[in-house]
Amino acid sequence: MTGRQGDRESEAIVVSSFKNPEAALNIPWAGVDQWRQVNQQYVLLIETYTGQLEPLQAIADSITADLSALDPIMEALCAKTCSHCPDPCCIGAKIWYDFNDLLYLHLAGEPISASQLICTRDQICPGWTPTGCRILRQRRPWICTWYLCPAQTAQIEHPEHTTRMLISSHSANIKTNRRQMEEHFIRMLTSV
Ligand code: SF4
Ligand code: SF4
Repeated sequence: MTGRQGDRESEAIVVSSFKNPEAALNIPWAGVDQWRQVNQQYVLLIETYTGQLEPLQAIADSITADLSALDPIMEALCAKTCSHCPDPCCIGAKIWYDFNDLLYLHLAGEPISASQLICTRDQICPGWTPTGCRILRQRRPWICTWYLCPAQTAQIEHPEHTTRMLISSHSANIKTNRRQMEEHFIRMLTSV
């Protein structure tokens, strides 16, 4: 196999992983080999397209900035609600890294975990501890920061609550940037 053929096959696998409708029903890359392969493919693609990555890296930097700004805000909110929570969401949640989470982690140069967060639906997220998540915010799936439980929503109920406005603004930036990152990446892979 030539290097270019290998590159094209890697592109096809990543694109089809993203577009596969089954992905919504199954935990993606749950096997150790699948996880290793998909991450090798991201590394290979990023190396292959290194000269075209500047816009993507700018988007990833912007996501990092918004996540960093959100972290103390979310930690303060969690401090008010999570320590006495009767039913911690992370125990029951079925959370895994998706296509954009992994793309962001690779572009941002963050270390990649040894496996998908959970490999079966009966597992508890390994990030959970009784005192909070042990995974740095930038390295968590985006949904972990995006999600506000009812107790947290109640804390910032007023539409002009400063915390609510800050969360809303940073989250909107991240959502837009994740969408643009995905679109730009797919366009880059599929352009001839
Ligand atoms: S985010 Fe909400 S549901 Fe989850 S642990 Fe904190 S208080 Fe409980
Ligand atoms: S990564 Fe952290 S915040 Fe997300 S589900 Fe796991 S323990 Fe909860």
